[in-house]
Amino acid sequence: MSELFQHGTLALLVPGLLEGTMSIQDVLKHGDTGIGTGQGLDGELIVLDGTAYQVNGEGKVTVVNDTDFKLPFCDVHFANFKLLKAAKNLKMTDVEKTVFEDVDYRNVFFGVKITGNFSKVKARSVNKQDKPYPSLTQTADQQSVFNHEDINGTIIGYYSPHIFNGPAVGGFHLHFISEDKTVGGHLLDFELADGEISLQPFETLNQHFPVDNQEFMSHDFEKDDIASAIDYAEK
Ligand SMILES: [Zn+2]
Repeated sequence: MSELFQHGTLALLVPGLLEGTMSIQDVLKHGDTGIGTGQGLDGELIVLDGTAYQVNGEGKVTVVNDTDFKLPFCDVHFANFKLLKAAKNLKMTDVEKTVFEDVDYRNVFFGVKITGNFSKVKARSVNKQDKPYPSLTQTADQQSVFNHEDINGTIIGYYSPHIFNGPAVGGFHLHFISEDKTVGGHLLDFELADGEISLQPFETLNQHFPVDNQEFMSHDFEKDDIASAIDYAEK
């Protein structure tokens, strides 16, 4: 069975509901592959082969396995990717077109894994915020951007149908980690020189909510401009 487990929603990051509500150990019970962020938007997270890597605001990568490390949002699943095709000189902006040439996955959630040599990678990471937490757009204004050239690595991410923009990022949400696990982040742009694209469609979306978090439970999302804030901060 193929299931995407999502803890929290991207929408709750918009007004700054950044309290970590699930430990990394509990997250890893639901998948060995994925993306997320830490409490207070503490870096960009990428889970690969059962290990969670955090790219902090300075772009430094560390393995997180501390019980105290909690996440307000993540997407994970158990990897069972199938090779779609080899690709050369593939730009980030062409990923959607390239994928949908071959498969009709527009209306389902699916995982994507892209491995190989990248001629260009532009990734960002955010600095941990303290209470009172700022909004997602305020944090995005302070992001650090890292540029890399001629680098081997792996992209892990998800496609969400556009009708789900809000709970997720409609379209692709991709994170990168280098092969040597020294650099990475949330992808803003890339060009794959030579590599492979693999996909994994999901039959089920398991949406998990932080029901013990009073701030989330009582928050009125009506007044947050979720879709445009997510467009601004995540694309
Ligand atoms: Zn991200």
